[in-house]
Amino acid sequence: MSNLYIIATPIGNLEDITLRALRVLKEVDVVLCEDTRQTQKLLLKYKIDSQTLSYHQYSKLNKINKIIELLKDNRNLALVSDAGTPGISDPGNMLIKYLIENKVDVKIIPIPGPSALTSALCVSGFPTDNFIFLGFVPHKKGRQTFFKNIAKEKRTVAFYESPHRIIKTLNSMKEYFPEKNIVICRELTKIYETIYRGNSEEIIKKITPDQVKGEFVVIVG
Ligand code: SAM
Repeated sequence: MSNLYIIATPIGNLEDITLRALRVLKEVDVVLCEDTRQTQKLLLKYKIDSQTLSYHQYSKLNKINKIIELLKDNRNLALVSDAGTPGISDPGNMLIKYLIENKVDVKIIPIPGPSALTSALCVSGFPTDNFIFLGFVPHKKGRQTFFKNIAKEKRTVAFYESPHRIIKTLNSMKEYFPEKNIVICRELTKIYETIYRGNSEEIIKKITPDQVKGEFVVIVG
């Protein structure tokens, strides 16, 4: 039976990779990537010349069939995403679900490491023994309900947001739960890493227009 390793990769700083992840990336026959150019930066740094194959949300069935063929051919594969742990709010999840539902004969093995979610939670200072993760904020449909539910939530809430919508989201948080404490983690592990703490109004005042760039995780206390 072949192995499919689900490998966590850095969320910014290329040093954040485990020794096991590097060994397995070297040993596998093919590395399935969300974006091969992104993964090549990591492979190049560690002088890993394993073959890569792109796999993303919009991959057609023939790409999945190619992956299944490789597995049937007893090839060992690694799955990585652009950053962090594959399958946590990214396309990796779809491949894993497909393989399980279609009873493909493969051993699925996690190689743990960085995730934007756990990196943000661990510095939040909010209770993390009982939290919920909501993925990305809905753009239109369900947006109001999303914030109304957080307003009622007793547990710590974590979600992802893009730079284009972070100010809009802060304004929605100000509208629905102005009193709640929030931690915004921007560009974790990267040069412009910034952690903003306070209620939404305080954070809106702290974020300058040039800081509305990069990647964000929002934690609501
Ligand atoms: N599976 C990934 C993980 O485990 O971290 C998350 C994938 S999701 C498609 C990408 C989102 O994660 C970004 O839009 C951003 O919200 C968050 N993210 C990724 N890297 C980040 C970083 N360095 N700092 C803050 N947020 C980050």
